[in-house]
Amino acid sequence: SQQTLILLKPDAVQRRLVGELLTRFERKGLRLAGLKLVQAPRELAEKHYAVHKGKPFYESLLSFLTSGPTVAMVLEGREAVAVCRNLMGLTDGAKSIPGTIRGDYAISVQNNLVHGSDSPENATTEIGLWFTPAELV
Ligand code: ATP
Ligand code: MG
Repeated sequence: SQQTLILLKPDAVQRRLVGELLTRFERKGLRLAGLKLVQAPRELAEKHYAVHKGKPFYESLLSFLTSGPTVAMVLEGREAVAVCRNLMGLTDGAKSIPGTIRGDYAISVQNNLVHGSDSPENATTEIGLWFTPAELV
């Protein structure tokens, strides 16, 4: 099976949606392999969103991701990367269809509650940014 990095971003924690969102991933059948609450330092946010450096929303995105605690988790299962991306919906909550996490709970493009790795290769890199091997079960 496959692992992916999922973040419940600071808006999810601030809106008290952690339990509901975790339930959605769990009930799909994904296995929790790692879980923690992190106040992301700027350096971690920069590494996590390095691909977006230079874009107009980059500084705002870093401020958002460091604005409060984030729930970081590693989820494991068959096709976990694609399965999670489908559960999350499109980046823009306003365009994301109902039934997805962003479609049901988000209307913003930036404050869209969740992050999910977009490829197995990026999942490996991102898991290494947020977790040490000893933190994974
Ligand atoms: P994520 O990487 O967080 O899972 P994603 O892969 O759906 O989201 P990306 O294109 O990688 O979307 O953008 C990363 C994050 O940057 C988005 O989740 C969102 O929070 C923010 N973002 C993306 N596009 C915009 C935009 N046009 N304006 C403001 N914020 C944006
Ligand atoms: Mg992305």
